Amino acid sequence: MIQFNIYPGGVRRIVTFSYDDGNDLDERLIGLFNRYGVKGTFHLNGKKYVGKTDAELAQIRAIYAGHEISCHTLSHGWPSNMPEISLINETVDDRKILEKLAGYPVVGMSYPCGDYNQKVINALASCGILYSRTTLSTKKFGLPENFLAWHPTCHHRDALSLCPTFLQDLTTEWRQPLFYIWGHSHELKTEENWREIEEILKNLSGNEKIWYATNLEIYDYKAAQRALRVSVDEKMLFNPTAIDVWVEKDKADVICIPAGETVYL
Ligand SMILES: [Zn+2]
Repeated sequence: MIQFNIYPGGVRRIVTFSYDDGNDLDERLIGLFNRYGVKGTFHLNGKKYVGKTDAELAQIRAIYAGHEISCHTLSHGWPSNMPEISLINETVDDRKILEKLAGYPVVGMSYPCGDYNQKVINALASCGILYSRTTLSTKKFGLPENFLAWHPTCHHRDALSLCPTFLQDLTTEWRQPLFYIWGHSHELKTEENWREIEEILKNLSGNEKIWYATNLEIYDYKAAQRALRVSVDEKMLFNPTAIDVWVEKDKADVICIPAGETVYL
């Protein structure tokens, strides 16, 4: 029996951070993320970057380097409360601006005000958006059933109290592998707020049993796992993707199937 419960490097747990609206304080937050070796996704409104020179865009790009730039619509309206064409324009125009900023296809998103419904999901999918985060905190550590309605574990204000549960045994099989923390850097108004963030990072970072990933890296890895081709006798595993994939065999062996290769068990 093959199971998809293993993540890059053979680990069983994932931590990701997700911040909305784009703010000058992102730079300080990213400085902390870099110091502690964690990764974040930053959901930006393209309107803030209209009219920037190439040199200005390069400066902003350098701040977010090593993390993910992702959509949050062009101008932060309520997605369920606008005509479909407006939502499409708000999404595609945001993508265009952010792709010029980022230098790669921007295919992630978070819902402004956490606002979405099935019509919004359908429209986003047609705009090439692969995942979108809500603001519905589950207080759990599951992966999403639908990446276009990706519910986070919690807002950062609630994260510290959940660390002991997440960290209690990182080597066992668990259907709750992902600690997903979201917020806004502009909420970090006092030094006490920053100390709280640093305390969360001290708890969760630097652990070789945890994969630190952006939102999109998690999406891409799960897509690569699903793309794995397994023979009927479960002895030949072909990975047709460009991402190394790990699986567990018979609840015992952790196996890497390198990108583009076939592994014979
Ligand atoms: Zn927002």
